[in-house]
Amino acid sequence: MPGTRVLPPGSCIGVIGGGQLGRMTAIAARQMGYEVLVLDPDPRCPAGQVASGVIASPYSDRSAASELARRSDVVTYEFENIDATVVEAAEAVGRVFPSSKVLRVCQHRVLEKQAVERAGSRVSPFRQVVTEADFYAAVKDIGLPAVLKTATMGYDGKGQAVLRSPGAEAAAAFARLRGQADVLVYERFVPFAKELSVICARGQDGETVCFPCTENVHKDNILDTSTAPADVPPEAAGEASRIATSIAAALDIVGLICVELFLTTDGGLLVNELAPRPHNSGHWTIEGCRTSQFHQLVRALCGLSLGAVDMAAPVAMANLLGDIWLSTDMKPDFARALRVPGASLHLYGKVEPRAGRKMGHITVVAGDAGTALQRAREARARVSGTRS
Ligand code: AMP
Repeated sequence: MPGTRVLPPGSCIGVIGGGQLGRMTAIAARQMGYEVLVLDPDPRCPAGQVASGVIASPYSDRSAASELARRSDVVTYEFENIDATVVEAAEAVGRVFPSSKVLRVCQHRVLEKQAVERAGSRVSPFRQVVTEADFYAAVKDIGLPAVLKTATMGYDGKGQAVLRSPGAEAAAAFARLRGQADVLVYERFVPFAKELSVICARGQDGETVCFPCTENVHKDNILDTSTAPADVPPEAAGEASRIATSIAAALDIVGLICVELFLTTDGGLLVNELAPRPHNSGHWTIEGCRTSQFHQLVRALCGLSLGAVDMAAPVAMANLLGDIWLSTDMKPDFARALRVPGASLHLYGKVEPRAGRKMGHITVVAGDAGTALQRAREARARVSGTRS
């Protein structure tokens, strides 16, 4: 692990991936006086619109990744589903945070769960499944209900199926998912009380800071709302932070790691998955924390001390999916939404709305988290002219 290298403003941060996470990172970086160079096939991608420059190449282009590293002082990536050899190509030329080793772990559910267990935390009981025999052994050992997931390339619920009973349906789910990936994970269904996440920032010197624990609600497997602080006992929030900190240290992360957890009905915590990057469940930090997750990432990448994460106010975030644009004939009513007290609007500059596509989000700060959530839902309903 090389020592801390402080990059002064004016230095260039390279970002592999030009989506909304890259965009909000770029906005934070440029606010702090850094240049941002984005690698994305589309020069008008969300991050490209605010970056200093774009290398317009496919994510699979190793020579473009080398060029990105040559032209940047440090490189990061904004999603996990990139070929790790592309990140290694950048690493051969310059510094990349988090490292390609971290990426390889976080893009494979089996390696990820093993890493969590090695760091001393618990996951739902699971089996790796490659063959049909593995699958039926897992059904027998782990039981039902269960969730079968592709080990790689799954996100927003893609590449997974909930299995409730043995028989034809389970066999069909196995055959379908096995057609998508060589390795699957069979894990016990967790009848969770709540879904939580903690984003932990870790600097080049090993300093760690966790953002306050967030409570998340998913709809159709896509994040719907996040609320902070999470309405959980302080012991659970503290334990979630300890888990995130120990995973960040065990993986030797520089940058951010989001740890998604299930709070079980008996008060226990199980880690669901890891993301070594800014996370949708931390978008609220822009308005809700002294330092946002995006500013924190820039600070870690540039060898600066991490910022304070005290909350400015209780806060909630509601995602805006493309469905809203489709249901309003492309005329979402943002003016009406912004009349909700405490509401802020974030749009990602995506031209084409599609069902399930993340187009933006609304954050609401309020006197308490419950009111913030109710108002965030209300503001979103106003965008589409429906009821919250
Ligand atoms: P993932 O892609 O693993 O984050 O899964 C997407 C969503 O599916 C999670 O946020 C949960 O709502 C649900 N989910 C995933 N795994 C399980 C599980 N083992 N038990 C219950 N729900 C799950």
